[in-house]
Amino acid sequence: MSCRVTLLPGDGIGPEVARAMQKCVDATGVRIEWEEVVVGAPAIASQGTPLPPEAIASVKKNRVAIKGPIETPIGKGFRSVNVQLRQELDLYACVRPARYIEGTRAVNTKVDLVIFRENTEDLYAGVEFDTGSVEAGRLISLINEISPKKVRPDSAISIKPISAFGSERIVRKAFEYAVQNGRRKVSLVHKANIMKFTDGLFLRTGQQVAAEFAGKVEFEDVIVDNMCMQLVQKPELYDVLVLPNLYGDIVSDLCAGLVGGLGIAPGANIGAHAALFEPVHGSAPKYAGLNKVNPTATILSAVMMLRHIGETDAARRLEQAVCDVIREGRNVTYDLKADRNDPTAVGTQEMAEAICHKLRK
Ligand code: NAP
Repeated sequence: MSCRVTLLPGDGIGPEVARAMQKCVDATGVRIEWEEVVVGAPAIASQGTPLPPEAIASVKKNRVAIKGPIETPIGKGFRSVNVQLRQELDLYACVRPARYIEGTRAVNTKVDLVIFRENTEDLYAGVEFDTGSVEAGRLISLINEISPKKVRPDSAISIKPISAFGSERIVRKAFEYAVQNGRRKVSLVHKANIMKFTDGLFLRTGQQVAAEFAGKVEFEDVIVDNMCMQLVQKPELYDVLVLPNLYGDIVSDLCAGLVGGLGIAPGANIGAHAALFEPVHGSAPKYAGLNKVNPTATILSAVMMLRHIGETDAARRLEQAVCDVIREGRNVTYDLKADRNDPTAVGTQEMAEAICHKLRK
């Protein structure tokens, strides 16, 4: 039986890594019917929007999707398509494993972490008011009226909503994952010493959920700045991390750096009704069209997708093939070579071919 999966190739390096991933998944023998929908820059060119309604409709229908990265203009232009997808499909749990793979240029070989990042709230909620706008002016007047702390009149404002509902479900997801996957500890990361209400609510709600799992999974809370230092020095002390949206974004890139860079960091966005898999990295526009970047992050995202749809044997074989190619170190991209300018580095598609070759043996 085949499974229909929405494929959103994205832009920048997205289409290249998506093609490489598609080849590898097809080489596992699992029959996937790919339903491809153009998003990002090519969709702006053809349809005037980076996120055409067919994209959301296709993911809602198929309930499983995989995407390449999509560029977001900095400080201007349209809102992040990635954030919109996660919010509109209520993909509340962003799951990002960071595990050492032999042969990578990892800073630390003892890392084996899974990050659960809340995906719908926090400073990513998109509630923002520009400096000088009427709305910002009204909000500043109200704040200055009701709060002892004063806001400067020329401020821009971003709102940080964190709800008990949103906190409860992401922490529960992290604990359920820990139980199902034999993980020993969940560490909740926050800045509740400063943001006593928003991060305080995230922490208190987390503590309540943790009490339900007492005796099964250990629990601790760690302040985010300390956590960054701990992760660099002693990542082996940590197992499953659960964080609000913004800290989750930053800490997951830090962990990707520990295990060898963004080229090998996979991710999933999971909701009650759909799941969307994607690499942690962005669209790296400077490398677009060069057949240069590492396809591993997208291929390992597909490994997560295969597990999600119940194709566990294919997932295991594909993961093993990726690890074998990286360990051997011959058919790998520039970022996996000791010297980034090593002329023996292969391209995106050639690395994918080497992985397919292992699968076919
Ligand atoms: P980026 O695209 O992730 O690239 C940052 C650096 O990470 C690259 O210059 C490269 O480092 C390395 N890298 C990324 N992907 C790689 C790969 N597959 N193989 C090897 N190395 C890789 O981050 P950015 O430049 O900050 O963001 C570019 C755009 O992507 C922005 O518009 C941003 O908003 C967007 N973005 C999208 C998503 C998403 O679609 N989910 C996520 C993050 C960012 P070296 O230069 O050292 O080789």
